[in-house]
Amino acid sequence: MRVPVRCCAARVVIPCIWRGKYFSSGNEPAENNRVTPMLRHLMYKIKSTGPITVAEYMKEVLTNPAKGYYVHHDMLGEKGDFITSPEISQIFGELIGIWFISEWIAAGKSAAFQLVELGPGRGTLTGDILRVFSQLGSVLKNCDISIHLVEVSQKLSEIQALTLTEEKIPLERNAESLVYMKGVSKSGIPISWYRNLQDVPKGYSFYLAHEFFDVLPVHKFQKTPQGWREVFIDIDPQVSDKLRFVLAPCATPAEAFIQHDETRDHVEVCPDAGVIIQELSQRIALTGGAALIADYGHDGTKTDTFRGFCGHRLHDVLTAPGTADLTADVDFHYLRRMAEEKVASLGPIEQQTFLKNMGIDVRLKVLLDKSDDPSMRQQLLQGYDMLMNPKKMGERFNFFALLPHQRLHGGSHRMNAQQSRPSASPVAGFDELTWR
Ligand code: SAH
Repeated sequence: MRVPVRCCAARVVIPCIWRGKYFSSGNEPAENNRVTPMLRHLMYKIKSTGPITVAEYMKEVLTNPAKGYYVHHDMLGEKGDFITSPEISQIFGELIGIWFISEWIAAGKSAAFQLVELGPGRGTLTGDILRVFSQLGSVLKNCDISIHLVEVSQKLSEIQALTLTEEKIPLERNAESLVYMKGVSKSGIPISWYRNLQDVPKGYSFYLAHEFFDVLPVHKFQKTPQGWREVFIDIDPQVSDKLRFVLAPCATPAEAFIQHDETRDHVEVCPDAGVIIQELSQRIALTGGAALIADYGHDGTKTDTFRGFCGHRLHDVLTAPGTADLTADVDFHYLRRMAEEKVASLGPIEQQTFLKNMGIDVRLKVLLDKSDDPSMRQQLLQGYDMLMNPKKMGERFNFFALLPHQRLHGGSHRMNAQQSRPSASPVAGFDELTWR
């Protein structure tokens, strides 16, 4: 259920698990062990060229252009496989919208900026941010804003267009082009769709990735007496139409991503996340802006986090591939390392801390005071509990930011009268935001 755009309120809260909570059980009822088109494709591939890495498996299952789980599915929400914070409460996106405006002001109010979202799902988060931009139009007036969405899923890009664009202005489509779709938002802001971050124009930008890094393919490694051995996926010789994990007999190239002083005996490494962080860092160092990354994850401490979700339940990762989401916790320690000091990084901090610092309590109170519908009030409170409760999403989800060094150490903006050095203002969310 979506509430009318103007009366900011809650979204439906359904009894479900969120993707960050549990690890793969590995035990699925036999009836779920269906031979899906994706399983047939993978078995054919393995029979012709041998076992595949977990990263290749994730990539094929999730984003294969013909059969990938993300490409043709709407998996979000009540009828889907999992639910995310922006789908739970619009307060989430509103506070993120305020974060970007706050950073834009702190960095000196550039004449133009791009808002770039990676993996926008149903477009709900960008929609909530755009509503905040409209409501704070007097602050942003004369700023030339454009929206850039990086999305591999044809199905989800169509839903994003429905959520975000003005239907009276026809969408421009060109499947061959790097910009495969263009439209205009309900408030008149141009929106462009790309498959790769590299194709987004390099300009002053704010980047956003919510539950995006966790779906990027990971390589898995097990420590053995012979050294690190990569986990591969093979056909089970005992059971027809079944896959199983095996260990590589010798070293494999992705081992280069493991730290020399690694102390865990099982690790997951995500080279694609490293490439994206390097690209974001270079862009931010060159042109300014910021990146805000929110996901469930750890700071280089966890081991086996690869798991599947289907219909709001845990799902064995090797069963009926293509019918369930696959995900692994984000290693924020690795993301920080990949930023290579080109930019400053902040966090990870827990979602409950970030949202509290951003003023979620004040916003909730305003909405509760405005609403006299008991079911709406109930939904607002349930949504708040889901986002903030440490046992739900409050502790498990983290916020992490990349900013130009001068933003934190004083740069182009504000001089304090008593100091000779410029003073940097606190970063909202990571420090407490003062409401005046
Ligand atoms: N951010 C949304 C959706 C999260 S699901 C939310 O929080 O609700 C992951 C999103 O990333 C989906 O939109 C999926 O289609 C997209 N995605 C997955 N792999 C991708 C890739 N390699 N490049 C671009 N988008 C990808």
